[in-house]
Amino acid sequence: MTQQRIGKKTVRDIDVTNKKVLLRADLNVPLENGAVTDDTRIRESIPTIRYLLEHGAAGVVVCSHLGRPKGRDEALSLAPVAGRLANILNREVLFAEDCVGEQAAAAVGAMPRGSILLLENLRFHPAEEANDPAFARELASFADVFVNDAFGSAHRAHASTEGVTHYLPSVAGLLMEKEVQYLSALVADPPKPFAAVIGGAKVSTKISAIEHLLPKLDMLFLGGGMANTFFVANGVDVRMSLVEAEQVAVARRILEDAKARHVQVFLPVDVVAATAFAVDAESTVVKPADVPRGYMILDIGPATVKLYARELRKAKAVIWNGPMGVFEMENFSHGSTGIAREIASLQAATVVGGGETAAVVAMTGLEKQFTHVSTGGGASLEMLEGRELPGVAALLDS
Ligand code: AMP
Repeated sequence: MTQQRIGKKTVRDIDVTNKKVLLRADLNVPLENGAVTDDTRIRESIPTIRYLLEHGAAGVVVCSHLGRPKGRDEALSLAPVAGRLANILNREVLFAEDCVGEQAAAAVGAMPRGSILLLENLRFHPAEEANDPAFARELASFADVFVNDAFGSAHRAHASTEGVTHYLPSVAGLLMEKEVQYLSALVADPPKPFAAVIGGAKVSTKISAIEHLLPKLDMLFLGGGMANTFFVANGVDVRMSLVEAEQVAVARRILEDAKARHVQVFLPVDVVAATAFAVDAESTVVKPADVPRGYMILDIGPATVKLYARELRKAKAVIWNGPMGVFEMENFSHGSTGIAREIASLQAATVVGGGETAAVVAMTGLEKQFTHVSTGGGASLEMLEGRELPGVAALLDS
């Protein structure tokens, strides 16, 4: 896959020596009882932090959101993240108990040369998501330059992703650069044959991406709950399965468009159907047209994994977005993990959209076998839709 410039300035294009840097990272990690359960996003933020310090930054003020708090919520404090960040970096990480106000300003003012300070959860203030100019200006006042490395939040125009860029010279971090490079290169100039594997719960959230990808694709593999609506479009009764009745016409249009463009579309040839949306539900493997009365499709079956694997071997590039089944329940995870293993084994450029699909890949432990596993679900989907991300658009052009 040819690497292409992202059209934006990055940390490599500016001199950070003796400058205080405001770094928007994506430290939105899962917590359980105050402990970080998956530190992937923290680890992915390290290269930019190291780069800034190695290039003489006077200090790095890191900010991020965590979860969806409604106001201040100690359960969603970034304090445990500061601890994990310090462990990984093997150096002190200071923590400010607020991201703005006197406390934050004092903490920034007291930063020793070359230190790292993590500000408390940006979303403790509604002003963050409201992209409030005063809030953005206050964040900006802590630094001389702004580096946005939060790809996972780049599809949102919030104070810390878009607002601050009005007050500081703003560039991309190394993770942001890598994410945009891989995703845009794949969509703009994919090695052929190019295949997309699209799953997930609903067609409605994936239509724009499918429509944008279709002109570039040679093969389209469908799975997950969204495939049900395509079955219905083909006249199949999927019984109790999740179906978006209002999307049946859209599914039909996609199938027709694909045919006109000579894109091969693959639908599951067998499915795991269960009596209930539950871990302990009775289940059976059947052809989609043979789903028994009272059953619902919760995964693709083994013959489908085999078929998709065989056809995917023809691809030189694969983009995967959306699990093949309800992978959160063990019984219905095998289609998704099976496809993950097959894609991982391909001699092709393999890119995984973030979110749930990245979680499936993590279950197999095969992250390193992919060309790129995105850290951002919503942001990567918007890139596949061909949309410009506001957090990227706001950065200085290169
Ligand atoms: P998305 O965020 O749209 O990619 O959807 C991911 C979600 O789709 C996961 O939480 C899965 O549990 C769910 N999902 C996948 N297959 C099915 C299915 N056959 N029926 C219901 N939900 C599904």
